[in-house]
Amino acid sequence: MKQFDVPIIYRSPLISAIKQKRRLQDKLKKDFGPTLLDFGDLKIYLARHFGFCYGVENAIEIAFRTIEENAGKRIFLLSEMIHNPQVNADLQERGVQFLMDTYGHQLIGFDELSAEDVVIIPAFGTTLEIENKLSAIGLQTEKYNTTCPFVEKVWNRAEAIGKKGYTVIVHGKPRHEETRATFSHAAASTPTVVINDLEEAKILAGYITGDLHLQDFYTSFKGRYSPGFDITKDLHQIGVVNQTTQLASDTQAIAEYLKGIVGEDRFADTRDTLCYATLDNQTAVVGLLNTPADAAIVVGGYNSSNTTHLVELCEQKLPTSFINSEEKMLSKEEILHYDFHHRQETLTRHYLPTNSPARILLTSGASCPDALVEGVIRRLAGFYGKEYMLESLITEFEA
Ligand code: SF4
Repeated sequence: MKQFDVPIIYRSPLISAIKQKRRLQDKLKKDFGPTLLDFGDLKIYLARHFGFCYGVENAIEIAFRTIEENAGKRIFLLSEMIHNPQVNADLQERGVQFLMDTYGHQLIGFDELSAEDVVIIPAFGTTLEIENKLSAIGLQTEKYNTTCPFVEKVWNRAEAIGKKGYTVIVHGKPRHEETRATFSHAAASTPTVVINDLEEAKILAGYITGDLHLQDFYTSFKGRYSPGFDITKDLHQIGVVNQTTQLASDTQAIAEYLKGIVGEDRFADTRDTLCYATLDNQTAVVGLLNTPADAAIVVGGYNSSNTTHLVELCEQKLPTSFINSEEKMLSKEEILHYDFHHRQETLTRHYLPTNSPARILLTSGASCPDALVEGVIRRLAGFYGKEYMLESLITEFEA
């Protein structure tokens, strides 16, 4: 896979050595078991796959190169480039300004832009409406477009099945940037609806089977269907695509369920649009959770959808802490972690086990720098008086 020029501050010598060793030992990516970092009375099990994915590295490389190439110009990002606070803060420190927040609320009006400015499209992509607004101003976005190719693959497939007469069902968080972008691109070629989860797929099924009153569709899915959507005919043939960071197993369950409702001949197979990184990271967490352990730590941005899904998986089995930096591990006893169910940081005591050895599972989201994961490992090792072992671990993995 292509190597990207990502600032060294995001890399970690330890994690790079581990990933390289695992890559060489398992070229076909068949082994989803974790890597053990053995500190004696502390055992850290690191997921087989975690951290920056292709799309995030591509976006970071383009964004930092854009800054270098455009000294003296005003540089804007449509919204957060990826859902990682450190990366976004680093870009802002270098003068990049955000035009919108994650939910599409305008922070700086488009009327303040001129053709001389530079606007970077984030990895999630953007809507056709916004693309049109920017090109009407005379802004050339192609050069600074960091839209992930795997997101574009979803758009292309939506367009392809749309041309064959299928309606597109987008499984995603309706307000997420990527879902809004995918909705916009799909809706340009075919009727499109966004559903959040299996529950909503079941409601949609009620309109397909006629069990629900058809006109109620427009209330149930208000703001989630394309203009001119005709419930009397637009759910006859369907295909499901997803916001790439959704739980792949959820999307597959929704697709299987809806296929069962409409029948195989009226259902488009889009399985190959599932993002490799999301699948790998989620499968690696399943592999991680097969390891007997006492607690799990997941590192990533609090508004990161893919990270939240990793937390969800871990929570089903173990006490899990969701943190965005090692600094949230205040001590061996206390952690300030994100409770995504209530959308708030919460102080928890005794998050580390008292038994020996303490067995901790560790992973991170696709927008989390490896340097942050190393920070967490260092802090944990420090709590057990074992930080001195890190250098020899790097040497061991580099061998
Ligand atoms: S998670 Fe997948 S689709 Fe999203 S940016 Fe990464 S590689 Fe691209």
